Amino acid sequence: MAEGMINVTDLSEYIYCQRKLFLKKVLFMREPQNESMVRGSIKHKFNEESCLNEKNVVLRIQREHEIKDIKEIYEKSYSDILKNTIKINMGLLNQFNIKPEEIFEKNWIGALQDIDERTNAIAELKKRTGFSSMDLWKSLFPKIKAEVKFESKAMKLKGIVDRIEYFEDDIVPFEIKTGSCPREGVWPSHSVQIGAYLLLMRESGIKVKKGVLRYSDAGIDRDVVLNQFLEMEVLNLVDKIVNMIDAKELPAICDNRNKCANCALRGKCYELPATPENVVEEY
Ligand code: SF4
Repeated sequence: MAEGMINVTDLSEYIYCQRKLFLKKVLFMREPQNESMVRGSIKHKFNEESCLNEKNVVLRIQREHEIKDIKEIYEKSYSDILKNTIKINMGLLNQFNIKPEEIFEKNWIGALQDIDERTNAIAELKKRTGFSSMDLWKSLFPKIKAEVKFESKAMKLKGIVDRIEYFEDDIVPFEIKTGSCPREGVWPSHSVQIGAYLLLMRESGIKVKKGVLRYSDAGIDRDVVLNQFLEMEVLNLVDKIVNMIDAKELPAICDNRNKCANCALRGKCYELPATPENVVEEY
């Protein structure tokens, strides 16, 4: 197998277009930075910083605060972090003609879901216990971490989980997606992705039963349970990718030309043979 491990995001890429993953993993082609990468990196940074700062937010909550005050404290913190993340990335936003107010709005929709959930949980805990500040923080569950890395040499797999909620007796990983939400369940590539994270967490000794797909634009959470079928699907995909990399045989151009129309690697891809061939030596 080629150097390195399979990334969980490679599984989705393989489902989307095997050839594209081959171009990246075997021929080391890189997609130029594009608008969706910039949007994604701002979203991830914002989530990460918001989670890291939550302890400071809760420490500010005093005995006299009511639910509206707690919400205000959360909103101020999230808003400051989002504005700062946007400010730091202004150069990239200008490069891709993304308006700062538009990216603020988009991320704020997802943030509001978080703010409401946390505000309600804290108000309820405060009412029940009378705690404030540090006592409140110590008793607050779930605790939340963002961008948590896992890897397993045995599985040849690694990945970064968007968000993990740590309850007193349970741990639940979340994958946060923008874009459309299916009428029922989750999109197949999303199920594989969260399944892979569940397996990686289980490999590292964490007991997990389910993961959650959070469709942030729609404000909808969908559960994905780790069962033997999902486990097989993930492991089979990893095997297929490892075999593809080892065989060094360029996969055929994908059937759906709409995918090609939006593909940043199309120019280089179309210069190569259209049907399977070992192109590594001459490349
Ligand atoms: S141009 Fe089409 S076949 Fe080639 S990598 Fe992109 S999506 Fe795949």
